[in-house]
Formats: sequence, C-alpha cells, structure tokens
Amino acid sequence: MQQVTLDTIVSLAKRRGFVFQSSEIYGGLNGCWDYGPLGVELLRNLKDAWWKAMTYRDDIEGVDAAILMHPRVWEASGHVANFTDPMIDNKTSKARYRADNLIEDYIAKLEKNGKTERATAVAERLAAAREPEDFYQIIVDEEIGDPVGGTKDWTPVRYFNLMFKTFVGPVEDTNSVVYLRPETAQGIFVNFRNVLDSARQKVPFGIAQIGKAFRNEINTKYFLFRTREFEQMEMQYFIKPGTHTEQFAYWREQRHQWFLDLGMSPDMIRFKPHDKLAHYADAAVDIEFKFPFGWGEIEGIHSRTNFDLSRHEEYSGKKLEFVDTVTRDRFVPYVIETSIGASRSFMAFLCHAYNVETVGATADGGEDAERTVLKFHPKLAPVKAAVLPLVKKDGMPEFADKMYRDLQKSFNVQYDESGAVGRRYRRQDEIGTPFCMTIDGESLQDNTVTIRERDTMQQIRVSTDKVKEYILKAML
Ligand code: ATP
Repeated sequence: MQQVTLDTIVSLAKRRGFVFQSSEIYGGLNGCWDYGPLGVELLRNLKDAWWKAMTYRDDIEGVDAAILMHPRVWEASGHVANFTDPMIDNKTSKARYRADNLIEDYIAKLEKNGKTERATAVAERLAAAREPEDFYQIIVDEEIGDPVGGTKDWTPVRYFNLMFKTFVGPVEDTNSVVYLRPETAQGIFVNFRNVLDSARQKVPFGIAQIGKAFRNEINTKYFLFRTREFEQMEMQYFIKPGTHTEQFAYWREQRHQWFLDLGMSPDMIRFKPHDKLAHYADAAVDIEFKFPFGWGEIEGIHSRTNFDLSRHEEYSGKKLEFVDTVTRDRFVPYVIETSIGASRSFMAFLCHAYNVETVGATADGGEDAERTVLKFHPKLAPVKAAVLPLVKKDGMPEFADKMYRDLQKSFNVQYDESGAVGRRYRRQDEIGTPFCMTIDGESLQDNTVTIRERDTMQQIRVSTDKVKEYILKAML
C-alpha cells in the first residue's frame, strides 16, 4: 500500500471502467456515481464476501426489505425528529457547510499546529453542542472563517433533515409522504418477528441485509466517501439484555478480522471510539481506514440497547419480544449492530490495492520499467484470470480460446491476444487480475500453461486441468 492521491484513484477508476460520474454527459449529478464493467464486479465480490462471512452460519439469516416503508417506521426510529445535520451558509461565498464538520476541520487544524489544549477545549464544546445556537456560538467565538473565501459573515445554523421525501400515488399531499430509506437497519427491525417465527431462530441470532440507502447530504465529498445514494451492508444481532458488553466485544473483533482476511494491512485500519453516543446507543466504535485525505469511518459497530424494538412495539402496537421456552424468560432483545458502507469500503479497498512499482524491464517479460498494479485479494479482484496466447498463430489462439471458454463457466476471465505479452501483463496488473495464463508452443505439446502471478510476477508451469483448481484455491 502506497500513499496515493484521490485524483489518481478517481482517474484510474474512470479510465479502466470502475466508476463513472452519474449522468456524466449532462454534467453529472452531485453525490451520485455509476459503477462500470469492472466496478460492478468488484462491488459484487465485496458484497459477496460480506454476505458469506455474515450469513453462512447457523445464527444469522438474510432479508431484502423494500426501500419504501410505512412512514411511521421513521417516526418510531427517531429519524423524522432527529436525523438532521446542522447547516450553515456563508453570505459572501454562498458556500454551504455542515456546521459540525466546519468545526471539526478547525479542530484538526489546531491539532496540526500543536495547539492541543485549545483543540481539546473546542472538541469538548462540540461534543456537548445540541441546539443550532451551540454550533453557531463556537464558530463565532473561535472566529472560524469560510474555507473558500475566509470571510466570517455566517447565517444562523439550522437543522436540516437528511431524508429524501417522495409521494405514494398520484396525490402529493402530507398523507402520501414516504421516505427513501436512509439506512437499511429499519427493514430488519420491522421484520424481527417474521424472521424469528419463520426461520425458527432463538436469541441470540442476527438478521443481515445489503441494500441501497439515501441521504440528502449537505456536502458530498471525496468521491464515493460521502454520496447521496449508496449501499449499506448491515447486520442486527438480537441478544439477551446483560450480554451486550461481551457481544459488542465479539462483533468488534469479527468485523476487524473480516478486513484483515480480505488482505487489508493492519496499519491501514484502526478502531475509533465515538466521542458522542447517539441517543439509542450505550457503546459504539468505528473502524476507520486511512484514506488519501486522512482517516475516515468505513464501518460502525453499535450497541443499540432495546431502543429500536421497544419503539416499534410502542408505535405499531405489536409485541416484539422473545420468549425463551426453556427458562420462560420474556424480554425485548438488545441489539448489536454492524453497519458498513459497501460503496465506502469499495473505495477503501480500491485505494488500498493501488501500487506503483519499479520493475526491471525484463523481470517478467514486461517492457516498462514502472507498473501500476492493483493488489486486490483474489476474492475481490474483478477479473480472476486472463488467458494470453503468446502469438496469434500455430494453434495457440484456438488452444487459448478453449481454455478461456472453460474458465468462463466459473469465473470472470478475459482473453487478450493483442500486443507484446509484457504489455498485456501490465494491462491486467492495472485492473488487479491475479493470474495471467500464457499459452506457448510447449502448451500444445504437453497440455501445460504458464501461470504468472500478479504480485510476485513469478511464473510456474501447470497442467491445464489444474488451472481452475489453482484459481479456486487462491480465492479461499
Ligand atoms: P457519517 O458520520 O460519516 O455521516 P454515520 O455515522 O452517519 O456516517 P452510519 O449511519 O453509522 O454513518 O452509517 C453506517 C455506514 O454507512 C458508514 O460507516 C459508511 O460506511 C456508510 N455511509 C453512511 N453515510 C454515507 C454516505 N453519505 N455515503 C457513503 N456511505 C455512507
């Protein structure tokens, strides 16, 4: 893993077809991105890795709930009242900011300049801020200027609800308002009884879901980091009250290990406890990744008490408790939640994979002295292997084509016969393909191919009937 700029990642993502700006030919739509041919594979592989790790076990079931839900769901969850960010405008530049982010950036600047005591004092005030005036007063007292123009002529701070609203049916009135879900978690809570009864589970057990979420973010920034439409992978684990401390510790470790198992370097992720707990939580920790612009949250692990189920009981009038048939215990379960952004962690894995290396021109038959290589774990790599006939004659293309079609039944593979083989290796390196299979004259005689491994660039000779097994093994 090397330090890379965000611009480099964004331009590679576009050039090689990972991510495009949404509606680009119309100038784009802020905070929305489209996944291209390679991006969609990487995203699917990432979601697949999560789905397998989280649901292919006895105690967790999957669901896929609708994006539109009964509007009372969001009253019960607290989103209608509380899912707000403090917003402030600069009168001169007309730039709009999240007031808390503006103060956070100011604190980071103080820290960078060695003014630690002052930074701590402002951070404490920020943690205690509740009303719009509290944020405003910090900005005025600290004389925080506009990052764009430097002026200090601010509007008052107002709270802004991040939920997108729309209407069900042809009449656009207050009775037909529904929201695009701002998180997938509520689709899990409202299905708690359905899953408990139909899957014959017992507490402790979990429900997992992957799906789109929408937030009308005040500022979108850093590519896929903060967007208005994104995907989440969430799991709610329902437990007996009193066991939440140990379950929280368990999930914290499980989720950390998941990143390591997918090849993440331990020094690129860290835990960050929350300074300020949400109204429903009794413990919370983030897993952060070291992005090119600094550390940023990619996953949250939250101990949510029985807040959500109790609120849904209250608002729906339906019992959402668990009855232990052996002990006769009856309780509303507590919940440990693991919540990761699929798109945000996609970006983390993309940044993590990026490397530029200087290699000898003849190290692996390549022609360039420098190569860009995406070192994805084979499980995540969008293309698992490339089949390359050494030359376009002597039966090699036919041999290669047959192998390509065989492998295609199991994996996303590419066939490439154009240009020098070294240049073809470089093209595959740049999209993170872990294996290149080269077919040469010997292949036709003894039914073997050369497998060239992306990271080490080493080549080994393997019998063609062992190739599939070889790739599968690397993907474990
Ligand atoms: P933040 O403080 O960054 O706004 P949050 O604490 O509100 O995030 P959660 O509600 O805990 O985030 O969401 C869980 C996960 O969903 C985050 O860790 C992140 O990976 C992802 N996520 C949240 N908001 C966005 C967004 N606007 N764009 C992309 N991913 C997001």
